[in-house]
Amino acid sequence: MRAMAQMTLSEHATDFIDDDRLNGLLRSRPDEARVRAIIEKSLAKQALNVEETAVLLNAEEPDLVEEIFEAARRLKRNVYGNRIVLFAPLYIGNECVNDCLYCAFKRSNPDAVRRTLAEQELRRQVEALENQGHKRLILVFGEHPRYDATFIADCVRTVYDVHAGHGQIRRVNINAAPLDHVGYKTVKEAGIGTYQVFQETYHHATYARVHPSNTRKGNYGYRLDALSRAMEAGIDDVGIGALFGLYDWRFEVLGLVAHATYLQKRHGVGPHTISFPRLQPAAGVQLDQRFFVNDHDFKRLIAVLRLAVPYTGLILTAREKPALRRAVMEFGVSQIDAGSRIEIGGYTEAGDAQCMEREQFQLGDIRSLDEVMRELLVDGYIPSFCTACYRLGRTGEHFMEFAIPGFIKRYCTPNALSTLMEYLTDYASPQTKAAGRRLIEAELDKMDNGTQKERLRDVLRKIESTDQRDLYF
Ligand code: SF4
Repeated sequence: MRAMAQMTLSEHATDFIDDDRLNGLLRSRPDEARVRAIIEKSLAKQALNVEETAVLLNAEEPDLVEEIFEAARRLKRNVYGNRIVLFAPLYIGNECVNDCLYCAFKRSNPDAVRRTLAEQELRRQVEALENQGHKRLILVFGEHPRYDATFIADCVRTVYDVHAGHGQIRRVNINAAPLDHVGYKTVKEAGIGTYQVFQETYHHATYARVHPSNTRKGNYGYRLDALSRAMEAGIDDVGIGALFGLYDWRFEVLGLVAHATYLQKRHGVGPHTISFPRLQPAAGVQLDQRFFVNDHDFKRLIAVLRLAVPYTGLILTAREKPALRRAVMEFGVSQIDAGSRIEIGGYTEAGDAQCMEREQFQLGDIRSLDEVMRELLVDGYIPSFCTACYRLGRTGEHFMEFAIPGFIKRYCTPNALSTLMEYLTDYASPQTKAAGRRLIEAELDKMDNGTQKERLRDVLRKIESTDQRDLYF
């Protein structure tokens, strides 16, 4: 049996979450002028600290909430334009030594169908995803000795090695258990993009309640320090997240902002992405509904995060239903998954219905990638499979150097249109192709005449009429 990561901490590991202070910040009633001053700071693309974020969270008056929504819409347009980056999750194995109360993969769940993809099965899943048109994946693993750093690295290399027709996966992100420094180095060498570790809840007492102390995940401090170890080991892009519905959603937003601020201060760069999944039904799980987040508060959550961390990608997953996803996109979401199946082997075996015993939780949106693409196009978004920054080494601090001055916009839209043209040419249904062509023409019309536009027209022509692919700026 393979060994699990040594539970060593990073050099200056510290527990930067002060529950009483964060809860204290959520008890004050802000005045309108203060709320507006903080919105202005954010619209100037400056990150907010936890005190300022708490002021926005405490603003309950409908007019102020609407002002926060409008500011989030503006900031999203200013920093991300109308691009939405697409990816798909790929569950590799659901063996797990932990016993998280909210998870169908918990070790004490007798109904869970345990499985780990063998290499050939993994290749078939990736072929199926490439034949859908995907270019970016996140590989998901339980926490188990079988899924050590070497195994994860081997999976990453296998994924990059699969080429179905014009298909290829160009960026592989990871959502797995915390590793030690040696482990992170091993997966970095395999060429991963982002390494995600979610704290699930930043509230210490709740964390202890849902993660039994006799499990590896029961160690709050080891998990909170996970991404500092990753950054010390040379991983540039990290992803944080909280599972909304375990404790007060406003507290968790402050926890995420405190974590982002801590990484920025300590490592010179904040998280690449933040995820905010909401608790969903899961096989063998009795959900405690005390802290469930309703749709209105979920929109506020996204808008406030958008304003608090202008340059961090916000990931909205297919946990949510199609109508809700469509409604919240404008508040700051920058990445979504689509055409997702989370059963192990689901991309070749799952039919239209979900099989809960084989899933970690129930999905809200199982539409095909093509359906989601078409809806985005109709709503005026550019669906993007871009991986240029990652492959040109524009990651971590270097990405921020590039992104903050706003240059990134000059590259993001042309790169997004290039990947969109690949999708339209190789995978799209006739209706999606028609919607995509209209959008591309509209985007070209918006561009200033000049070399950049001519270079882009040339790239689009090459993709449409030759076998050339993977052309980016
Ligand atoms: S949430 Fe993750 S660590 Fe916890 S039981 Fe599920 S798979 Fe295991």
